[in-house]
Formats: sequence, structure tokens, C-alpha cells
Amino acid sequence: MNAAVSEDVSPEKITTGEDYIDSLRGRGLKVWLFGEEVDEPVDHPMIRPSINAVAKTYDLAVSNPELASVVSPFTGERVSRFLHVCTDVNDLVLQNKMQRRLGQLTGTCFQRCVGMDAFNSLYSVTWEMDEAHGTSYHQRMKEFLTEMHRHNYVVGGAMTDVKGDRGKAPHEQSDPDMFVHISKRTDEGVYIRGAKAHQTGCINSHWLIVMPTLRLGSKDKDFAIIGAIPVDAEGITYIYGRQSCDSRSMEEGDLDVGNADYSGQEAMVIFDDVFIPNELIFMDGETDYAAMLVQRFTTYHRRSYVCKSGVGDVLIGAAAQVAEMNGVDRASHVKDKLVEMTHLNETIYGTGIAASYQGHATKSGAWICDDMLANVCKHHVTKMPYEIGRIAQDLAGGLVVTMPSEQELNHPEIGKLIRKYLKGSDSFTTEERMRILRLIENMTLGRNAVGYLTESMHGAGSPQAQRIEIGRTMQLEYKKRLARVLAGLEVEGDPDALVEELGSYFSRVFSLPGDA
Ligand code: SF4
Ligand code: FE
Repeated sequence: MNAAVSEDVSPEKITTGEDYIDSLRGRGLKVWLFGEEVDEPVDHPMIRPSINAVAKTYDLAVSNPELASVVSPFTGERVSRFLHVCTDVNDLVLQNKMQRRLGQLTGTCFQRCVGMDAFNSLYSVTWEMDEAHGTSYHQRMKEFLTEMHRHNYVVGGAMTDVKGDRGKAPHEQSDPDMFVHISKRTDEGVYIRGAKAHQTGCINSHWLIVMPTLRLGSKDKDFAIIGAIPVDAEGITYIYGRQSCDSRSMEEGDLDVGNADYSGQEAMVIFDDVFIPNELIFMDGETDYAAMLVQRFTTYHRRSYVCKSGVGDVLIGAAAQVAEMNGVDRASHVKDKLVEMTHLNETIYGTGIAASYQGHATKSGAWICDDMLANVCKHHVTKMPYEIGRIAQDLAGGLVVTMPSEQELNHPEIGKLIRKYLKGSDSFTTEERMRILRLIENMTLGRNAVGYLTESMHGAGSPQAQRIEIGRTMQLEYKKRLARVLAGLEVEGDPDALVEELGSYFSRVFSLPGDA
């Protein structure tokens, strides 16, 4: 993957956050919100903060190119790290560092990791599919990726089907549209039908990659479809997902929203016979590779949740700030609570970054992180942000949920009463205190609690999905042998030969730096 670095920047290439926002205008997407079609999502006050969060990924690539961009191996120009396929440990680690930084800068979900993790998993899965089946998906996927690099586009991954009856396989559902499937074929390509739920940042993307959501059997052939679709393709309808307190961004003022600039975005995407041309199909009927794709994607994506450690940094800062505003920052129990929050937050980061440092090469040359530690990271994320949020609310005090609105604060008559009675330490104004309290509300109960808490629970798979994966890779027989040797019990074979039975997880634990 080597190419000469070119200084040329093609005119259609998106570079800054502003370029990106402009690129989303006038696409005529069919987006439903509050029972109406949205004229222009870019200008909708409830949607715009989610667009700003994605724009920040471009601005970070400009201000810190080493962290948030790479030199494209295809075009030789700098492109977003979110479009890069990892070719060594450093690439995996830098993804996590970029994610933590963006969490710090936005305090929310910046929506681009699904596409990044989809490209990384597809790179190796298409390679291995071609090796087994003699197909040419890998080359097609690389050509598509090159095109994405040329424009420096945002690509969303569309994986989660609505699933219907969870006890039935896709082909057993009474309504086949419960899983996205091929509805029609022509010589030029295929048409797909169905819906993908909870699609992070889909409306803010330029392209979507549709992928199966679970392991498929031989009767599910029509559901084994992976392909790329432009976000404004004919036949797509987007239904915007509501978030707690979201309509505050449609009120006057900017205090009560807590974080006026940034939010996440989830929507339902409905495909009503949407066309995918042959050259943009990266799996068609290879049911035996659906499980590999889901497994690799979740391995990348579960350690991408270190994003929450960046968001956690903001919440810890808000808790420390409000303690100071309340005049209790020197109390030892307050310090201890901030230590506890930090300990939890760094545990999330520690496991995610370790999964990346313990990455290894796939046959295709793309590098993947460690699956055990990625699952441990994501499992922490289903719990620890809740505890961090609980402590933040403890330090904030009850005012975080009983405070009057910005309109009262600025009212000519009642405002002076608010400023007088809601004041804390003399070093801060009442408005400053209210702003920090609203930020804590935003992150633990409001709009950005969606990403920080409940989406942390279910995104990239609900907690049980990680427990299944941890159980699958925990190597109990190997560990039982370790115990039996030390306890003086009999073991089969040579006790000193344990090293040869390490298995994938322990092989990586004990590999030497530099081993692939
Ligand atoms: Fe990225 Fe985190 Fe948002 Fe997922 S929740 S897209 S990992 S920022
Ligand atoms: Fe997610």
C-alpha cells in the first residue's frame, strides 16, 4: 500500500468542516421528523448539532493531520483516518487516540466509526471470500474505497436489521423485509428491500455500506448482501430518531440545551427496492462469510467505544467544575469521587487501547485488534458511564433537575431573583453555574445521554453479545490445565508443553513486540 505523496488536492475533495457542511446541501433526501418531511437537514436546528459533530472530524484532520488523517495509499493525498484501512499496530492505536480526542472536543457521538470499522472488516473478509470462492469482491471494494478517498467522503455502515421475530432466521420471518434482502435481480445489479434501525449518522453521510447483521444459514442466501449505496439513492426514506430533550434546540437561547453545538444522530433507513450496481456489490449470497464479517466488524467496533472515555473526560471536568462552583471542591469525599470517575474512565480507555496494541495482521494485510480485549472494553462501556454519570449527578446536586429555564434567568423581573438565589461560590456567576449544570443534565439525562449511556449499552451489540464472545474465547481448558499442573493433578501430555496450547488470545498476550 505505497503511493507517492501528491501535493495536488482535487477540487471536489472535502477538506474542512465547512466544505463538508456545504457538501450535504441540496441532496433532496427524504427525511421525516415530527410528521413532516424536512426541507434541508443542514438548516434544521434539531439536526444541525449532529452535522457539526461530523464536521469536527474534518476540522481535527486540518488542525492535527497526524492524528486524524493519513496519506491515502490510493490517491497519495491526505484523507480522513476514518477512511483508512489499518496496516500496522500504530494505525489501530491512532484510531483510538483520535476517537478519544473527538469525544473530548464534542462531548457526543461523532458518528464516523461505523464506516471506518466496516471498511477495515470488509477489507479482510472480501479478501478471504475471494480466496475461497474465486470472486472479485476485494478489488471492487478497493476501487470503491479509492473513490471515497478521492472525495474524502463520510461513509456510514448500515448493519442493524429490524429483525422481526428474534426467534426466527431471516428466511423464516412472516415478512421477509424484517431483514434487508435482495428483492429483484437484473444483469446490471440487484435491488434491495428492508429497513436498518438505529443508523448512526446516516443522514450526515455521503454513502452507506449495507451489511448483514447476523450469522446466516444456507437458506438465507438473499439476505447475504453487502453493497454501497449513495445516501440520496432513489427509494430510500429516513425516519429521524427522537432523543431526550432534543426539541430544546428549537427553543430560543442556547443555555438549556447544555451542549448547543454538538449531538449524535440515529435514524431508521428504509430501502424500498433500492438499486446496487454489480461493481458496488461486495457480497452476494456467500452466507458462510456473514458470521466472519459480523465477528470482525464487532471486534473493531467494540474497541472503538473508547470514544466514551473522551466524552467521560468532559463529564469529569463538568463534575469537578460544578464542585468548585458549589464551593465544595476541597472536600476529601469530592476529590475521591473524581478519582473514582477517572479510574472508571481510564479502565474503558485502557482495555480499548490494549485491544489495539495487541492487534495482528489478517491474510489480506489489514490489521485487526484483539477480540477478547475489544469485547472487554465494550462490556465496560455498558456499565461504567452509568456509574460515572451517577457520580456526576451526585456532585451536581438536585438543581441539575429542578433548575428554571434560560427565559427566567433573562427575565427583567424574575431574572434578578434567579441570579441571587441560585448563586454558589462568589468566584462564578449564576449563569456560569447554570451552564455547567445543564451540560451535566445533557450528558446524563438529555440529548447526549443517548450516546453516553443507552447507546453505550446497545451499540455494537448489547451486553449479552459481549459475554457470549468473552465466553467463546476465554480458553477454560487451557486455564484448567494451568491450575491442575500447580495443584499437582494429572494432566494429559507434557505439562511443560502448555505453551504450545496458548490459543489465539494468549498467543497475542505472550507475543514479542514486532510479531505480526
Ligand atoms: Fe464512534 Fe462512539 Fe459514535 Fe460509535 S458511539 S460512532 S464508536 S463516536
Ligand atoms: Fe454506535
